[in-house]
Amino acid sequence: MTILAQTSLLSALITGSIAFSIFLRGRRTKAQSYFAYFNINLCAALLATFLISLGDLLGSIGLHSLMLLSLGLPVTGLRFFALFLPDLEKAVSRMLGICYPLTVVFAGIAVTPLSRNLILLSAHIAYVLLIFTLCFLFIFLRYQASEKPGERTRLRPVGYGGFIVITLIILDLVSYQLDWPYVFLANIGLAVYMYYTLQILLTVHAFDISELIGKGVVLGVLSFVLAMIFWLLTFWADTKQIGSFFFSVLVASIVILILYDPLKHEVEARAAEFFFRQKRELRILIERLRRDLVNVIDLEKTARIIVTTLERSGRATHASFYLLREDGSGYERLSWAGKQPIYLIEKGRHASFLQNLQESLGPVIKQDLEFRYTSSLFHLRGEGENLHEEERLLEILRTLEQLHADYSLPCIGSDQEILGFINLKDDRFEDSYSQEELSFIMMVAAQAAITIENSRIFEQVKERERLAALGEMSAGLAHEIRNPLGAIKGAAQLLDPKNLDESDREMLSIILEEVDRLNSVVSQFLDYARPMRSGFELTDIHQILKRTSQLFDAEFADTQRKLTLHLDEDVPLIYADAEKLKQVFINLIRNSLEAIEENNGHIAITTHLTHEHEAPYIELIFDDDGPGIPLAVMKNLFIPFFTTKDKGTGLGLSICQRIIESHDGTIQVQSSPEQGARFVIRLPVQRTPPPRIDP
Ligand code: ADP
Repeated sequence: MTILAQTSLLSALITGSIAFSIFLRGRRTKAQSYFAYFNINLCAALLATFLISLGDLLGSIGLHSLMLLSLGLPVTGLRFFALFLPDLEKAVSRMLGICYPLTVVFAGIAVTPLSRNLILLSAHIAYVLLIFTLCFLFIFLRYQASEKPGERTRLRPVGYGGFIVITLIILDLVSYQLDWPYVFLANIGLAVYMYYTLQILLTVHAFDISELIGKGVVLGVLSFVLAMIFWLLTFWADTKQIGSFFFSVLVASIVILILYDPLKHEVEARAAEFFFRQKRELRILIERLRRDLVNVIDLEKTARIIVTTLERSGRATHASFYLLREDGSGYERLSWAGKQPIYLIEKGRHASFLQNLQESLGPVIKQDLEFRYTSSLFHLRGEGENLHEEERLLEILRTLEQLHADYSLPCIGSDQEILGFINLKDDRFEDSYSQEELSFIMMVAAQAAITIENSRIFEQVKERERLAALGEMSAGLAHEIRNPLGAIKGAAQLLDPKNLDESDREMLSIILEEVDRLNSVVSQFLDYARPMRSGFELTDIHQILKRTSQLFDAEFADTQRKLTLHLDEDVPLIYADAEKLKQVFINLIRNSLEAIEENNGHIAITTHLTHEHEAPYIELIFDDDGPGIPLAVMKNLFIPFFTTKDKGTGLGLSICQRIIESHDGTIQVQSSPEQGARFVIRLPVQRTPPPRIDP
């Protein structure tokens, strides 16, 4: 077999497998599909070239097939390469418009004896080569005009590579005519070019050239080593004896299957060592950074260390770090280097960007988004649903612009929440970050996420300790107030009112009254500060309600005021602290009593058994027809010491809330000026006693 036959067969196999590998993928982009069609066309043309090299009858069949098949190439090729030139859509479709009639003309020539005419044959070849030359010229021009590093990285190999392949094909044709020994170069060049173009298409993430070359080398070395093993294990077998040959092929296959994984790993590791040596420095830097971060708890410092290290690594001209705000409304810039980016990334305004960050759970890469945006413009223009996608991509790109970022790497918390993100951009290099570099930086982001979480826990613990200390101090303070209060009251009571004149007597009664009031505030405060949930027993809520309402009987007597109970028979006994609930009911009824008219108000207490998400709970509704609660008061209702009454303590409702929450329930207020106030308590039906929390 001649070298031309071998190389065309090899290239046919490679282009064929490229197409096959694309078709094997479940979901393909339009670009990938077009690329697959182009490769099928190429594969067929290369097989025809293979036939030509066999000569004789097969050779002439091959020649005619090659002529016909090569006419498909400008069309399939144009369709594919046009994807790199979305803004030249019109020019490309005009070129396609010229291609179709020319294809028919040349096809007509190819099947007639005219095909032997050297001038017509040259015109045929020139036409095919010219279309591709134009194609690569456009790509090259776009490469030169483009200012986006990402796009340049993609266009450069496609454009330059295309020119090299065309040169090789011309050299090939000349060699063929003049009998030079270079006739195989075009085939090899074509296969390599197709392989790299496939990588560019399949790699949605960023890549750089050394990474691509690395991949090619891994593939080459791996195939060579495996072929050697196969050859070593089968060359001694007698090919004429099918049984023995099959046996050695079987053994060879088993050996290859066993060796494949470790071998691939080894070759990849070696290639990485060789090709990514310059990245080792970055890796060392990043590893040091990660170690440093372990000992830091202060977030500002964390942000500063990350940003300065990334800037000093020489791989970023702009870097910034954003942190989730405590109220969750957005992300705030903590530190930056290079041009100053936007201060706040709000959840509403930058929703698309944040959603992308959340969904990808990995780096958001501007170059990929641009690629997706331009290809979505090209393929999908006019289809309504994709307009939305275009807008979304544009919005994300706009946010990245404001962040001065080509890359955004999220710091993901343990519950998949984005706690912050790191942004990077490098103006100096055209080559983007490699996957490996990005994975280093992702490690930093992961470490930062841990630091953020640790710092939050630390802050919470600090806050809890502070509150606990404050609680203890104020409880102590309350006791300190109560003791002298007792003494003051005792001393005042020793004064005999009979010996005092009118005004002194009044002073004395004020002293006693205020002492009592202060005492009640302090007692209520101590109640509020005391841990809840101690005496949970099986309790009849209705029983407590009835007994509590009886306490107010005297206040309803001799007036038109009414207190009515509407109790639902189905309400079961629940585990609760009866004394505490009584305190809640007293507070609510007292508030209502104070709100309704002296002579003719109405208070109604209603109970129900209801279900929410299958779980049963008891609803207690306290209605009154008083003036209701103004909005301004409503907002502060459950805040301790908030009161609108001259002699109120403002602790009643906050104590109620604490008690109800200790029963895992809720208390809500609804009010409108015409209808008075309504307090709704919901208590889950607890059939087993909850864990005790002793004071
Ligand atoms: P206090 O009764 O000592 O003022 P609370 O915490 O019990 O403390 O009540 C806080 C405030 O809520 C009251 O001062 C009052 O303005 C308002 N409020 C409570 N219940 C009612 C009600 N039923 N109708 C109107 N206002 C109410």
